[in-house]
Amino acid sequence: MAGSVQSNTIDFDTARLQIAQPRRRRVQSQTPRSLESIRQQLVSMLQTSLEMERLLAIFFQELQHACPIDALSYQNAPVELRIELGQRGSHSASYRLTHESQYLGELVLRRQQRFEEAELARIETLIGALLFPMRNALMYRDALRSALRDGLTGTGNRVAMDKTLEREVAMAKRHQQPLSALLIDIDHFKNLNDQWGHQSGDEALRSVANAIKSSLRNIDMVFRYGGEEFLVLLTNTSRQDALMIAERIRQNIDSLQFRVNSQNIPLSVSLGCASLHSDENGSDLIQRADQALYQAKRNGRNQVSLAV
Ligand code: GH3
Ligand code: MG
Ligand code: MG
Repeated sequence: MAGSVQSNTIDFDTARLQIAQPRRRRVQSQTPRSLESIRQQLVSMLQTSLEMERLLAIFFQELQHACPIDALSYQNAPVELRIELGQRGSHSASYRLTHESQYLGELVLRRQQRFEEAELARIETLIGALLFPMRNALMYRDALRSALRDGLTGTGNRVAMDKTLEREVAMAKRHQQPLSALLIDIDHFKNLNDQWGHQSGDEALRSVANAIKSSLRNIDMVFRYGGEEFLVLLTNTSRQDALMIAERIRQNIDSLQFRVNSQNIPLSVSLGCASLHSDENGSDLIQRADQALYQAKRNGRNQVSLAV
């Protein structure tokens, strides 16, 4: 069924003006609670968190008092953020959120029934309360991410890796779910550096990191382990599934078109794959993945080896 899309742009300053002049709102609330009291409640609840997911969950919940919706999706591609709440509906209202020149993302609200004009006006008033907390959440997220990210490749750094590994091992044990790890090392990378220079080497590292990320659903689980080595953690993923994912990563990198001075430079990786044993800790897991990686190198590179 074809749904309707109602598209809008919300600018932070306009929204702030609307908030400052509540009497000049286009529509009076027809719900038992006034729109202004819903808005005030929303504002105070939004002050309790700096997490984007939490802010949107609060917004989703409080918006129901002013305009019932079935689903909310938020996307901010430049910062690789995507959040989906609720079930999908056939009608949607979408908003492009900005503050001065800063892009805050796209918000799409969905439900089964059409949105009335009066409802859109109420939604807009409440979105006005969301923009400032949202901007703060993005700034907070950015600060957190840069502290935990490798500057060159944008993957997690060692600090992030150690934290995540500890958390994921604990989770896997608590829920008795499989956890797998892939250790990935670029083949003959020293040659590439020697022949084409360190800068091209850096470019190649970025390409490989991007290829790994785009082969995965959860890009937050990719870490730069060392110079030209990456670690991928695969939550709730069996040994067999991890092997398939490893093979997909290998193929994606093998078919990369990496060019320096319009010359094609072949890139390949070797991968070691291991799954957590019940009596192991995180570093045991990595150690076995490393042994498997060593085996993949010995077997001739550009291949996956599975740990025992
Ligand atoms: P193998 O197939 O056995 O893995 O061979 P290799 O040449 O990849 O292995 P080796 O460990 O001898 O070389 C790794 C190279 O990675 C050496 C180092 O100069 C390079 N490297 C490490 N970090 C960086 C980086 O941040 N940028 C660049 N350009 N090179 C790096
Ligand atoms: Mg290496
Ligand atoms: Mg290497």
